[in-house]
Amino acid sequence: MTFENDLKSIIRTIPDYPKPGIMFRDITTLLGDARAFRRAVDELVQPFAGQKIDSVAGMEARGFILGGAVAHQLSAGFIPIRKKGKLPHTTVSVAYSLEYGLDEMEMHQDAVKPGEKVLLIDDLIATGGTATGAVKLLRQMEAVVVAACFVIDLPELGGADKIRALDVPARALVTFE
Ligand code: IMP
Repeated sequence: MTFENDLKSIIRTIPDYPKPGIMFRDITTLLGDARAFRRAVDELVQPFAGQKIDSVAGMEARGFILGGAVAHQLSAGFIPIRKKGKLPHTTVSVAYSLEYGLDEMEMHQDAVKPGEKVLLIDDLIATGGTATGAVKLLRQMEAVVVAACFVIDLPELGGADKIRALDVPARALVTFE
């Protein structure tokens, strides 16, 4: 079995969650499988091995798990990007689009210095609203967003193309149609 099919078979799909008609891709089964978790993190890291990455930024909450592991492998720092009101120190924020309406995400103002190279990590990209917001947030602080990497891409929703249109390379380990 190819690596992609192997990973796909480990990711659990939950129909009609969180609402009817949605096929929720649940990576907790991947995270709980020691071999698959290591392999997925290794694959996320591989294109950047040997490069100078200052920090990995991860989006709440599954981006923390994957991003933390990737940061460790790259000997990089970790920047948490969170929903509004969760971070204790001075923050910068950006509005981003959800399926219905807008929300705000934040990071600490001192989390990144101008010119630092940041790799963005999340479990899944769908419409790209969340990742676009994160790129904008990092660029507000003049970080260089080296790439945005995901375990899963849902290409029909066009998110990865939106990230590429911002001049940020986007990569995913598996796709679900
Ligand atoms: P987007 O903003 O539409 O690209 O949605 C991506 C965000 O929603 C990510 O932070 C994902 O964790 C979350 N998300 C959307 N759909 C799923 C899913 O099927 N499984 C897990 N997370 C999802």
